[in-house]
Amino acid sequence: SPLQQTLLNAIRTIPDYPRPGVQFRDITTLLGDARAFRRTVDEMVQPFAGSKVDKIAGIEARGFILGGAIAHQTSSGFVPIRKKGKLPHETVRVAYSLEYGIDEMEMHKDAVKPGERVILVDDLIATGGTAEAAAKLLNQLGAEIVAACFVIDLPDLGGRRKLEALGVPVHTLLSFE
Ligand code: 5GP
Repeated sequence: SPLQQTLLNAIRTIPDYPRPGVQFRDITTLLGDARAFRRTVDEMVQPFAGSKVDKIAGIEARGFILGGAIAHQTSSGFVPIRKKGKLPHETVRVAYSLEYGIDEMEMHKDAVKPGERVILVDDLIATGGTAEAAAKLLNQLGAEIVAACFVIDLPDLGGRRKLEALGVPVHTLLSFE
């Protein structure tokens, strides 16, 4: 579609970053393009027009930028999901595996109240490991996860299925093979 073409044109691909063989999809160029950024946010909120959303949960760090804009547009609060050790108050924590080794992410215990309707946001879903861990944190807090939204899907890596297995609907704007 024309919209998808506009967004595709605004995303820069960096070969062999951060490692040889990886094609990194760089969205800083999209964020820096006023028209593309607005259209991305408009499109991401589209499925939720008219539905009540309490909070947007953004995954560090690009999920903060998109999530903040989406929170404004949907009149929701914003809550951060961060790498361990960054949040100052009491947290819930979850471990997740990276390509090499494991890491942990955290949310404030009082960031979401049981039953609150939350949308999870990040820029890109690859294996889904990051978003699955984030969904587990939200579930620990008793959130109702309305959906998980990403600009980019890498469908070959199967991340969507990991979230759908948790009962979380997934929305993405673009795919790269
Ligand atoms: P996953 O856990 O799904 O394998 O990886 C997704 C996470 O890694 C997201 O937080 C995303 O920001 C980051 N990521 C992995 N590959 C890329 C990429 O090519 N471009 C961007 N912008 N982020 C990536």
